[in-house]
Amino acid sequence: MQKDQMKTPYFMINEDKLIENLEKAKQLKEMSGIKLVLALKCFSTWGVFDIISPYLDGTTSSGPFEVKLGYETFGGETHAYSVGYSEDDVREVANICDKMIFNSQSQLAAYRHIVEEKASIGLRLNPGVGYAGQDLANPARQFSRLGVQENQIDQSVFDTIDGVMFHINCENKDVDAFIHLLESISERYSEHLNKLDWVSLGGGVFFTWPEYDIQKLALALKAFSEKYRVQLYLEPGEAIITQTTDLVVTVVDIVENGMKTAIVDSATEAHRLDTLIYNEPATIFEASDSGEYRYIIGSCSCLAGDQFCVTNFDKPLEIGQQLRIQDSAGYTMVKLNWFNGLRMPSVYCERSNGQIQKLNEFTYEDFKRSLSQWKVT
Ligand SMILES: *Cc1c(COP(=O)(O)O)cnc(C)c1O
Repeated sequence: MQKDQMKTPYFMINEDKLIENLEKAKQLKEMSGIKLVLALKCFSTWGVFDIISPYLDGTTSSGPFEVKLGYETFGGETHAYSVGYSEDDVREVANICDKMIFNSQSQLAAYRHIVEEKASIGLRLNPGVGYAGQDLANPARQFSRLGVQENQIDQSVFDTIDGVMFHINCENKDVDAFIHLLESISERYSEHLNKLDWVSLGGGVFFTWPEYDIQKLALALKAFSEKYRVQLYLEPGEAIITQTTDLVVTVVDIVENGMKTAIVDSATEAHRLDTLIYNEPATIFEASDSGEYRYIIGSCSCLAGDQFCVTNFDKPLEIGQQLRIQDSAGYTMVKLNWFNGLRMPSVYCERSNGQIQKLNEFTYEDFKRSLSQWKVT
């Protein structure tokens, strides 16, 4: 694939950057003895799984189709978790997963007989503490439905399960804060942990962040797993895919109303939804903090407040110019939607040898089919 044949908008996944993250994951595994399963809800562009799978132990999921995707395209261990299973889901998933993690004691009681003999059984616990920047993403928030609260645990449940899962972090870049949480879990659940084969500490541990003390994390995890003689897991999503992918767009117009807005051929609401949901402005590769030309990078959707960021450039922007919106992989491609009937970004991978390979491309037919396949008669 030649760069001049590629029409924007498109995602460009960079293999070298991906490998950089994966090498850190490998280091963490080697120093700690833990296993790592990729959280598919963050990133499930399976076209690059052959690059990722040699480094990790398998996948985990948040819904039935992710289980199937992980099983089919990634291999290794397939963990199945869902906040709410239907009986049909459980029957289907039980045949292809290695571990089934229930969100509540009621789901465990209702479906464990279907899973027994087929997969290892786990339960999600909610210790009521956590690390998250925003309440929307905080599993320990008030009235949380995610996992069993400590005071509601039926003590006998630990004799009937093999493992537990705690997912209580979101983009936690602070190793000491994580270790503090680990100690709190260790103190409060020690008698139960002794009865288990495995413990998953969920995702949200940002061990690929620059300067993150991987060794410190590894030693704490190793000590925990040795103390309770359990196999530990982490379920990284964002940490694996962070800073690997650009969303490449083209400036299609420049308008001015008190401030200059460069309108690009993409929209946060359709192609980079977390910008909008979490109100986290995007970063543009071509921008320059010291530049004197300031623009709103506006989307081409009809939503009034839909913008990627406000940022400065050394030179005035021009219509037709391309911009690279950085760090656009995690929780992004998995949330693409057809709002406004915009052109869906293609997906490419830039391999370590410089070659660019196409992973996906969308047409008008894909848009149409996503809305109806059959007409009323
Ligand atoms: C979201 C989630 C993950 C992945 O979280 P990251 O922040 O992307 O690492 C892992 N496990 C569970 C249960 C999750 O809900």
